[in-house]
Amino acid sequence: MGGVTLDAAAARRWLELLGDELSARADELTRLDAAIGDADHGTNMARGFRAVREKALAQDHADVSALLKATGMALIGTVGGAAGPLYGTLFLRMSQATAGMDGGLELAAVRDALRAGVQGVADRGKAQPGDKTMLDALLPAMDALDAAVEVGAPAGGALREAAGAAQRGAEATIPLQARKGRASYLGQRSIGHQDPGATSSAILLRTRAEALADSPPPVGGGQGGGTL
Ligand code: ADP
Ligand code: MG
Repeated sequence: MGGVTLDAAAARRWLELLGDELSARADELTRLDAAIGDADHGTNMARGFRAVREKALAQDHADVSALLKATGMALIGTVGGAAGPLYGTLFLRMSQATAGMDGGLELAAVRDALRAGVQGVADRGKAQPGDKTMLDALLPAMDALDAAVEVGAPAGGALREAAGAAQRGAEATIPLQARKGRASYLGQRSIGHQDPGATSSAILLRTRAEALADSPPPVGGGQGGGTL
């Protein structure tokens, strides 16, 4: 039954891919932030994930929880502004939710960890859905993953569904007026631009789906139920 979907090796692949993608798209994220913020989101995220590579990925973490914790700490230590503490909280809460799961996580545990992380972002940032923030990508991803777990979808498809929902959520921030963070200072002038944080959150979910979809099958094969 099931099979491991997220172990330390897969989490490591995810964080490497995410760092690569954020640095490749740093200019784009910074351009989005230039329109409704202070033009630093791309450089913030690229710097943060360079630190993740140098600090968290450089160590030989045995389990997912330890790797996620080191990632959250690296982000909090290097990314200032709003996004650093918020993404740091996301990873630290995911770490807490996965403590002790050193054999790897099944899809439902991956879902639970994401839920804990997203709840952390909501607690910390106090944003509501529709406020034009990263939550507008994270919450739809959460809902899509929930629905997929509910119907017993295979993990690969479920994570791709979540990534697609995050991407659509990010695009759906364009007509919204920002009510949190720096962009809210612009009032109605924030309308018509995609939120940078929602965009980086969509990248986070897409790279997760990609990294886990590359997971080798578990030893002994298996039916592929929850295996990617
Ligand atoms: P700063 O706004 O401090 O320059 P960044 O540019 O790195 O930080 O990140 C901006 C992003 O942070 C926004 O696009 C938005 O998605 C997110 N954000 C800002 N405030 C909040 C909040 N209170 N809750 C959730 N996300 C937020
Ligand atoms: Mg900014």
